[in-house]
Amino acid sequence: MAEYDYDVLVIGAGPGGYVAAIRAAQLGLKVACAESRETLGGTCLNVGCIPSKALLHASELYDEAANGTLAKLGVKIDKMSLDLPTMQGQRVDAVKGLTGGIEFLFKKNKVTWLKGLASFTGANTVAVGGETVTAKNIVIATGSSVMPLPGVEVDNAGGQIVDSTGALELDKVPGHLVVVGGGVIGLELGSVWRRLGSKVTVVEYLDQILPGMDGEIRKEANKIFKKQGFEYRLGTKVTGAKAGKKGVTLTVEPAAGGAAETIEADVVLVSIGRRPNTDGLGLDKIGLELNKRGQIETDHEFATKVPGVWAIGDVIPGPMLAHKAEDEGIAVAENIAGLTGIVNHDLIPGVVYTKPEIAGVGLTEEQAKEKGPIKVGKFPMMANSRAKTNHEPDGFVKVIADAETDKVLGVWIIAVPAGTMIAQVVQAMEFGASSEDIAYTCHAHPTHSEAIKEAAMAVTGKPIHM
Ligand code: FAD
Repeated sequence: MAEYDYDVLVIGAGPGGYVAAIRAAQLGLKVACAESRETLGGTCLNVGCIPSKALLHASELYDEAANGTLAKLGVKIDKMSLDLPTMQGQRVDAVKGLTGGIEFLFKKNKVTWLKGLASFTGANTVAVGGETVTAKNIVIATGSSVMPLPGVEVDNAGGQIVDSTGALELDKVPGHLVVVGGGVIGLELGSVWRRLGSKVTVVEYLDQILPGMDGEIRKEANKIFKKQGFEYRLGTKVTGAKAGKKGVTLTVEPAAGGAAETIEADVVLVSIGRRPNTDGLGLDKIGLELNKRGQIETDHEFATKVPGVWAIGDVIPGPMLAHKAEDEGIAVAENIAGLTGIVNHDLIPGVVYTKPEIAGVGLTEEQAKEKGPIKVGKFPMMANSRAKTNHEPDGFVKVIADAETDKVLGVWIIAVPAGTMIAQVVQAMEFGASSEDIAYTCHAHPTHSEAIKEAAMAVTGKPIHM
């Protein structure tokens, strides 16, 4: 009889966990994955990346029809209206299709889904769904949940004070939506409801939106979103919220201190960040401690301090992003199987799926300057033929290179397809590209990506079209 029930037990079936489980099974290991949700796919597929993109895509088309952008192109729609139930229905269908797809992949790869909340009962032993199972290797991929805001109680069912999950499911367009937190999730979901007709006010504690991104990009994004109708209350702290029959009264005060005031809203979206899921996992039973931020620390192979216990995704340090979790899922499975699984954490791209999109990889200009002399090349989308033809003039590409070696240190893009454009620079940077390498790479014409080539040309010389 085998010593353990499974070679690998993964806890959590988000993009980290389900990818780790499938990869481990592909490598010939006997694998189970515990998931407490009704469907597989974790935050990303159920209440994150996928449903938000379903609404972002649909609301973008609605906005183009409603605000006259389509009319400018000769597409006239005499009678148009919003059918929110259908728009929400296609969101639900998108989630159903993709979560069902993971279930199919589990079956195909012979990964056993253990349904229920998993908790360690000892080394190599986990209780899940009324059973106790043993595994030689256990991968913690329990992800993250919404960070609560003291004084503001989220009630998604009530539909007035909601988190990102509640904001995806609203059945009415709010007259005034206040978004607490000017990060990626708040701006994406704020964009959805603004396009559908809400007045949107973003309340942010810091004096700029999009913390962590390149300073110039943050400023440009701020300007573009303002032009689109977003209102901001920057440097402002939310201290309380009260839901009543007429709406929500939000209490705010200057972050630096000062007099309190109130803001009236129909719906308040709390999106101030996410925190790792470790409650109820029984980590004390295996002696695994958390760091100050409540995360599980691992080495570069994703092994924790406890032999046979590994961790990946949102529950460990690093950006809370699905593709980071997925890459760690592949790497941890390969390491467990005795191969060499590596993730380059210096080159994890980040994308904001607004219109235009915002994407970046590597160092910001501020970070790069701290490390030594740099050269920066920029190119505006206004001068890119495809963007101009498509009536998409907002934004720019910025390439940051080492002044001495010309090695590309960071690339930042605001452009309609920035999320797609960033892939080529991530790959170039993986190969240690210089700005000259990008400048002398042939880019198809007419594409938005030519702006990357021209920004790279601007690092050491001059772009052609400026
Ligand atoms: P998760 O996806 O959180 O999955 C963890 C799973 O573990 C969950 O299903 C949970 O039920 C399960 N679980 C937890 N504890 C237990 C337990 N004890 N027993 C059994 N099961 C357990 N990222 C992007 O890269 N791109 C985007 O566009 C994007 N958009 C987002 C939009 C929103 C609104 C949100 C909220 C997030 C978004 N993210 C996006 C972030 C992304 O969803 C996460 O980074 C990603 O899901 C993390 O993957 P994970 O596998 O670490 O954890």
